Amino acid sequence: MYIPKQVLIILKLLNQQGYEAYLIGGCVRDLYLNKLPEDYDIATNALPDAIMQVFAKFKLVLTGINHGTITVIIEQMPIEITTYRVDGEYLDNRRPEQVTFTLELERDALRRDFTMNAMAYHPTEGLFDFCGGQEDIIKKSIRAVGNPEQRFREDGLRMLRALRFAAVLGFSIEDKTKSSIILNCELLTGLAKERVQAEFSKLLLGLYATSVLLEFRQVLEFCIPELRQLKQMQYEKSIQALKNTAPKLGLRLACCLQALEVGEVKAVLQGLKYSKSIINEVTSILLAKELLIQTDKLRLKKALQCYGQEVLEHALSIMLASTLEACENIRIQKSVELLAEIIREKPCISLKSLAIDGQDLQDLGITQGKQIGEILQQLLLEVMSEQLVNEKSHLYLRAEKLKKDGNA
Ligand code: ATP
Ligand code: MG
Repeated sequence: MYIPKQVLIILKLLNQQGYEAYLIGGCVRDLYLNKLPEDYDIATNALPDAIMQVFAKFKLVLTGINHGTITVIIEQMPIEITTYRVDGEYLDNRRPEQVTFTLELERDALRRDFTMNAMAYHPTEGLFDFCGGQEDIIKKSIRAVGNPEQRFREDGLRMLRALRFAAVLGFSIEDKTKSSIILNCELLTGLAKERVQAEFSKLLLGLYATSVLLEFRQVLEFCIPELRQLKQMQYEKSIQALKNTAPKLGLRLACCLQALEVGEVKAVLQGLKYSKSIINEVTSILLAKELLIQTDKLRLKKALQCYGQEVLEHALSIMLASTLEACENIRIQKSVELLAEIIREKPCISLKSLAIDGQDLQDLGITQGKQIGEILQQLLLEVMSEQLVNEKSHLYLRAEKLKKDGNA
């Protein structure tokens, strides 16, 4: 089991001062899955003040201190160290009102969401598996720690986390845990939207997102009620398409929400507190997709001008992923090829790359700003539609003609 040197140093320093310290949670699960953990969390019986003392010489980040978490930066690696704790009362299905520290590793493990996330590990002491997490990992089963009903009432987000882990790991949700999710999914409406967003995004990017979202449509609808208006066929089409798209957030969001109106999609994403740039990306992809329903070279160039290459490629990939009809598929494939050809040709699609500019037109005696603008736009359109070659001499001639004709 590979554990980074920085993590070993932290365990050693705490142990040397007489404290217990264990790797815990997601990183232990990932180590048992032979996956490289994204981050390493450490649980200890040292209280926050003691942690700060042990790591006084290191750079510390104290943003989580109210929950007993101190982040130590060691050789550029941030590692979260959290004092063993039991969560206090969950008064509103959101967050524990207070946390209480405990001296027992086992109690800290029991507050965690799923058995696979409740294991602790120490390089010399081995695995501490209080809830049968290892067996569940072998069975590929996501099982709540303790009574699922009670655990979901404490924190409704755990239901969405179960779906997220199923979507990422391809595990199935254990029967009792699953029926409890179905029974309690309305608790998802009361959660902080940022928390829902974080889990939903990870879910969407999962390799197994399609099967999870097909199975748990009603759960998703408590996160995104706008999906309720869709007919099953429309819903299935969008969700089936997910598995044929690259795991990029903007792309997957656009694919998942493609059956809604663009305005609605924007409202959904705003409601889930997505960033402006993601909202802009998703809505652009969906608008571009509408534009691409009919394509010829000029339309594609105009779309390229308006949305840029990446958005168009995403829009086309959603269209390809969503179509089941062979001839439709061939048509979209042709657009994909045409777009690739256009991009290879590096076409002139902006005034900037036109071989003539405002100054040149002034030299031709066109003095009015408005007329200069109109002529340049007309020249650009004719270049884009390949009626005109983007060379100075050709553009001059045409500009003169436009000037004479009073601007075409
Ligand atoms: P990832 O690899 O995606 O980070 P993770 O399991 O590490 O997955 P985190 O959100 O980083 O997920 O949480 C770290 C650990 O904290 C979890 O493994 C779990 O033990 C515990 N945990 C997180 N959220 C909850 C929750 N809502 N209820 C109970 N325990 C939780
Ligand atoms: Mg984690």
